[in-house]
Amino acid sequence: MSDDDKTYHMELEAFRQNAYRTVDWVVDYLANIESYPVLSQVEPNDIRRQLPAEPPAEGEGFDAMLRDMSDIVLPGITHWQSPNFFAFFPANSSPPAILGEILSAGLGVQGMLWATSPACTEVETHVMDWLVQMLGLPERYASHTDGGGVIQHTASDATLCALLAARERVTGGQANKAGGNGKLIAYTSSQAHSSIEKACMIAGIGTENLRLIDVDENYAMRPAALDAQIRADQAQGLVPFFVCTCVGTTSSLALDPVAEIAGVAESHGLWLHVDAAMAGTAAICPEFRFINEGVESADSYTFNPHKWMFTNFDCNAFFVADRAALINALSILPEYLRNQATESGAVFDYRDWHVPLGRRFRALKLWFVIRHYGVNGLQHHIREHVALAQDFKQWVIDSDEFELAVDTPLNLVCFRHRDGDGVTEAIMQTVNRDGGMYLTHTRLGDRFTLRMSIGQTGTQRRHVAKAWEQLQAAGRAAADN
Ligand code: PLP
Repeated sequence: MSDDDKTYHMELEAFRQNAYRTVDWVVDYLANIESYPVLSQVEPNDIRRQLPAEPPAEGEGFDAMLRDMSDIVLPGITHWQSPNFFAFFPANSSPPAILGEILSAGLGVQGMLWATSPACTEVETHVMDWLVQMLGLPERYASHTDGGGVIQHTASDATLCALLAARERVTGGQANKAGGNGKLIAYTSSQAHSSIEKACMIAGIGTENLRLIDVDENYAMRPAALDAQIRADQAQGLVPFFVCTCVGTTSSLALDPVAEIAGVAESHGLWLHVDAAMAGTAAICPEFRFINEGVESADSYTFNPHKWMFTNFDCNAFFVADRAALINALSILPEYLRNQATESGAVFDYRDWHVPLGRRFRALKLWFVIRHYGVNGLQHHIREHVALAQDFKQWVIDSDEFELAVDTPLNLVCFRHRDGDGVTEAIMQTVNRDGGMYLTHTRLGDRFTLRMSIGQTGTQRRHVAKAWEQLQAAGRAAADN
């Protein structure tokens, strides 16, 4: 073999065999997932100390890589795909999503422009339009109107883009040219996700110019307080421009009264963005669409199929009513990206709809999920999760040892032990250390509060019932100490 023919690439036939083995590994992992402690039990540096300090000079065989997955990586995994995962909000997945992900990697497409892979753009546009129908979202988010949907990495990215579009709209494009003037004021509730504060940092609004509006006894934003704060800021010569309202807060799934907040935002001419990161998926079921009441007046809306819709991370859905406002904020066209399709104006170039230039073919996994489950299948599982959470809530209400912290809707239950914060925290430490389940906490009314978040793909009644037994046993042990 001459030096010219020499290759280090994996032969395609070897790739085929290794791919079969990799799929076998993943299937075995999922089949055995309940045998692992849900929360990884390793100590800091346990994983790195097993890895060679130097990269290999000569390539290694695939056997060694797959072996290290089992021996080194697996112990350092917290099993988000375990049906006993009740922490944070879910980041669930499913076989059709994984298959879409494999195909996306196989095609290796970079879909920054329509022209760089028309199917990457057109499947995405189509699937975003399906979501508008499936969730009963306003038609003005669909691509045949002035609006449209786009897949972003995360809800944090979507909120940042909404903020940038709002900033450019209120300044007539001046902020992009001359930077911020320190007078623009954004609003969200005191319970909103930290991503809104982060977006204000990145967009040059400044965290001191983000007003955290007071909430009611259910932790939902008070529209009257929002209105009063906007008026106070206007009286100071400041420029209110953006409201982010939340459908399902991270701590307690509080539902802001979107319709009333929309009324306030509209009366002052502010951009309204809706963050429905986790709870948004519930709207697939018509009986849960009450969560989106008022969304028809929102300028933008986001939710994460990568949380509760069986589509593996990362996959955020972001919709705008006026795509020109978004594109005006983010479009920049260097000579080397010019092409006929773009010039024709007949296509979407999604690079103009978010921060990065390059983009993966993420729509494939979402497309596969929707096609595999169908709307009926998705509704079935969402309803099942909600019913399980509502049953769990009733067990807490009926218990002499635990109490509800707040009456949460849908698939989250916030509760605590009646003996106080110390016992509640000890319960969490015990069950997480035992490995049979994993749940996390928040503080509500300054009390340590457990969050039972039910939305993992494989979670069934037996998992929730077992978790309740473990929590009660840990509660009795902690109270006796
Ligand atoms: N908004 C809410 C209400 C959330 O609960 C979360 C995360 O849990 C986010 C935003 C941020 O999501 P992401 O990780 O997609 O940025």
